[in-house]
Amino acid sequence: MRPKDPPPATYPFAYRNPPRSGNAVNGLGEQEKSLARPVFHSTGRGGGRQSLDWAALDLLFNFLTSPGCFWQVLRTLWQRRLYVGPVARARVPADDTAAMAARIKAEAKRLGAGIAGVTTLRDDALYEGYPRPPYKYVVSIGTVMDRKEMEHVPQSRGAREVMRTYRRSSRIAIDLAAYIRGLGWPAQAYADGEDLIQIPLALAAGLGELGKHGSIINKEFGSNFRLAAVLTDLPLACDAPVDIGVDDLCTRCRRCELDCPPDAILDEKQMVRGVEKWYVDFDKCIPYFAMTEGCGICIEVCPWSEPGRGPALSEALIAKRRKENHESD
Ligand code: SF4
Ligand code: SF4
Repeated sequence: MRPKDPPPATYPFAYRNPPRSGNAVNGLGEQEKSLARPVFHSTGRGGGRQSLDWAALDLLFNFLTSPGCFWQVLRTLWQRRLYVGPVARARVPADDTAAMAARIKAEAKRLGAGIAGVTTLRDDALYEGYPRPPYKYVVSIGTVMDRKEMEHVPQSRGAREVMRTYRRSSRIAIDLAAYIRGLGWPAQAYADGEDLIQIPLALAAGLGELGKHGSIINKEFGSNFRLAAVLTDLPLACDAPVDIGVDDLCTRCRRCELDCPPDAILDEKQMVRGVEKWYVDFDKCIPYFAMTEGCGICIEVCPWSEPGRGPALSEALIAKRRKENHESD
């Protein structure tokens, strides 16, 4: 798809005193491994929302949100009271962790998730200064967005679908956490990215690979889904990260780079807090993101997000790589 008349990257707002670069806060160029630092969205648990360098833009983002989106956000916030709940006294044994993991992932799908995987809680999902969640296992879930609605990004209609999907994924995580607690094991829904960084968990749980546009790419759904998680002490067999050929395509494709109005997508992987990975220029993306209710152009123009295309694309990319490796041996 092509975005319909995206607004140009010129802004009717600006900081009188520009904040510290979001790229510096994110640790762009830092060689040492360290925890991520919150910069934009936050529940403020690590010292208050106003302490964030880009808090004013976050506030403006909320003011610029259309009523339809705002209503979805309010409903999602209201659901947060259900993230935790009582644990059943009788505990179902979980000696067979593979069978239990299969059962939990099947339940996630029955509740409406498009994809689900299991991993353990990792440091790269944590923010500096935030309390570490007291659980070992993570069930990462992806809830698929309506592609027809998402074709309207970066207009309000696309943004509404994003917020509607966040609300749905929050509900799925809440119901899955309740299901696990019903088996007698502690579990808590974490259905937003404010306390926990969802992408590293989803990558470790095998939901997909990181793309040049900075979002996760799944073989079946591309980047057309939103993440949530359930943290638990229920022993579960973990999934492994996947190789579907994302790097093979991203190193040759420039589609998201060319369609990003503020030119925020970098052509090469960057060193970010000791890890080399695809990275989007925060200072260029986020003002545009705020002005357009969450933008999303890059994830929708990505060929992986085209319905039905991913599996064949993955197969072709991996076959091509094998052939090239074979020829160079
Ligand atoms: S979300 Fe950010 S990186 Fe993606 S197209 Fe929009 S401005 Fe560019
Ligand atoms: S549009 Fe192309 S370069 Fe960008 S993430 Fe998708 S495959 Fe990679």
